[in-house]
Order: sequence, then structure tokens, then C-alpha cells
Amino acid sequence: MSDDVLSVIPADPRWQPDQAAADRTAAVVAGLVPRDEDVDIDVTWHETLTVVDCGQNLERIGCPQCGASIDTEWWADLLEAHCESGFATLAVEVPCCGAQSSLDSLDYDWPCGFARFEIAVWNPERAWLTDEELTAVADALGHPVRQILAHI
Ligand SMILES: [Zn+2]
Repeated sequence: MSDDVLSVIPADPRWQPDQAAADRTAAVVAGLVPRDEDVDIDVTWHETLTVVDCGQNLERIGCPQCGASIDTEWWADLLEAHCESGFATLAVEVPCCGAQSSLDSLDYDWPCGFARFEIAVWNPERAWLTDEELTAVADALGHPVRQILAHI
């Protein structure tokens, strides 16, 4: 049994909304997915920076400095090491060329992100939100948003 999860996160990984903005945004997101009893929407405030990864949808990680492909095993090990405690910093030395970079600026295909707030729709029965829909979500939240589509 596998799941698809569509997550919406603030563009700024450290940003968190207040309760009212979160409620408003969750309602907007709920209106964008089919009404089905299997669709669950989780709204989560994370204490620390938490990875929102795309699971089996991850095909490649590109280095923004040298353009090389970063070994996805490196990424898997990193996620495992931080799965309980989250990330104190996103600063990282990339394994390909040793450049100092930030984990949220690596070139993830499909996208991955980091966040302290997340709205996750389980088995949304739809694909990516459109730009228009993302704008509506961002308006409700009062902050620009990104989306992650995970297969786990
Ligand atoms: Zn590199």
C-alpha cells in the first residue's frame, strides 16, 4: 500500500503562520481537492526545520554550484540522520565539489523542501496545483507557498 501526499509549505523554510491564517489556508486547500472520504488533510507546525521530501518521486538532485548529480544515497542518509530531530541549519557542504551550499537551494527533481509549517493532503486524487491555485493558497496564508508531491 502506497500513498501520494501533496504538501503545501511556506516559501521561507523558517516562516510560520498564526492559527487563523493556517485555518483559512487549510480551508482553501480542502476546496481544491475532490471531496472523498479517503482524503485526509494534516496541518502541522514543526518545532524545527523539517524536510518535506518527495519520497519515491525523487529522480535526481543537482548541485547548484558545479551542476553535477548528487548521489541520492547521500540524501537518504541525511534524511535518516535528521528524521527525529529535524535540521538546526540548512547549511551543507555538498559531496560532489565540496562547495558550501544550502539544502533548500539544491536542485531537486521532483521538488523537495524544508519547512516549519505544512499542510499535507493524503491521496489527493489530483496532480499539481496550478499557478492560479497556488496564488489562492498563498493569499490565504499571507505568504508565498511551494508544493511538494510525494509518493511514499
Ligand atoms: Zn557540486
